[in-house]
Amino acid sequence: MKKFWSFTETFSRSALEEFQSQRLCALVRFLARRNSYYRERFRKEELEATSFRGLADLHRLPFSEKKHLQEILETTRPSLPNRDLLRWHQTSGTSGTPTRFPDSRRDWVAYSDLAASALYAMGVRREDTALAAFSYGPHIAFWSYLSGLDRIGTTVVAAGGLTSEARVRLLLDYKVSVLLGTPNYTMHLAAVARAMDVDLETECQVRLIVTSAEPHPTELKQKLRDCWGAAVYDRIGSTETGGIAFECPANPNVYHLQENYLIAEILDQNHRPVAPGEDGELIITTLFRQAMPLIRFRTGSIVRRAPGESCLCGRSFLSLQATQTGVVVRRIDDLRKVRGILISPTEIERIVQEESQLGEHYQVILHTRDHSDEVTLRVESLPNTSPAQLQKMKRGLGKKFQERLLLRFNVEIVEYGSLPRRADKAQKIIDQREIPPIHQ
Ligand SMILES: [Zn+2]
Repeated sequence: MKKFWSFTETFSRSALEEFQSQRLCALVRFLARRNSYYRERFRKEELEATSFRGLADLHRLPFSEKKHLQEILETTRPSLPNRDLLRWHQTSGTSGTPTRFPDSRRDWVAYSDLAASALYAMGVRREDTALAAFSYGPHIAFWSYLSGLDRIGTTVVAAGGLTSEARVRLLLDYKVSVLLGTPNYTMHLAAVARAMDVDLETECQVRLIVTSAEPHPTELKQKLRDCWGAAVYDRIGSTETGGIAFECPANPNVYHLQENYLIAEILDQNHRPVAPGEDGELIITTLFRQAMPLIRFRTGSIVRRAPGESCLCGRSFLSLQATQTGVVVRRIDDLRKVRGILISPTEIERIVQEESQLGEHYQVILHTRDHSDEVTLRVESLPNTSPAQLQKMKRGLGKKFQERLLLRFNVEIVEYGSLPRRADKAQKIIDQREIPPIHQ
């Protein structure tokens, strides 16, 4: 049986860089030809696509940020007809509307390959039966895993929209060997199984748990291993970047950035690469996406570059070191991640301020219920608001959050003057979740 999904995983560092250089040149030429947004940005930087030298010229490419994505999308769309698009996903945007991500048929093949390669490295094989305990939501996580599992040929048990009890029964009935889900939810499933008098050690065949979408501290990983009697490996990514790194079974707590599909930079404040063991911002350039390309995308996540240049597993990819709180040491901005979705205090404030019947003071409490992240918004009503008006506002506000941030908020309207007065938006978010309050 082959040890690696793709021969590109075992490239020496120099072969890998040559491979990345060629792909990057092709991408820059494609963008200069087909994407007016990048054409204009390249022109401003006086960058000629035809003489672009690949990695040696990477530093000349402009950075992009979450706020640019909508503009990139709008200018890219006309260059790709609908018949070439295979998928749309979306995430919460910074400007009030969700940011949408198209993938062409070609993009999606590469995407599936990227997911398959991470799953294969973690030990998922064709002989396995997998259950992905994700909602079939608009975010990319579940869909990319499903395509990756299809590529490997793993049997998949469909499990969306089911209760946790029903999922536990599926695990037993189909002798599921690989479980995919968020760290908190897989922990919750273990508790549900216990409540159903299921002995996971003896009755359940799950041998591997693949987690994603939430910070996964080392302590929680150990708890999960103990509960399930299974290996536990984590993978990180986002709807913007797609999957980017997986935890190496040969070197737990080290996450290999999948540099055969992307270029990863870890840069200090002066935009210089950090040394092994140092912290810097993670910047991603996707090498295979044409419908929604990312060039030097600033993730806003400060990560720690793992010490050592190559790994026991044979890969020479740039790697991240997990800490007690997960892979992301801290965030540059004040975004918080809730159930895989990044929410911004600015966005919450904007929605609250749109309601003329509400006071301007509010509090957002992030908490844990049944091993899942919950968000409660406390906001003040203006004096003399009738109970009927309050009910209407509460419903309206809940709906608006769901539509704009793609996340369910519990809304509590409290009496005017009862909330603390704080000027700083970030201080209005109180994180009481059971996971340490550092987010990736
Ligand atoms: Zn490794």
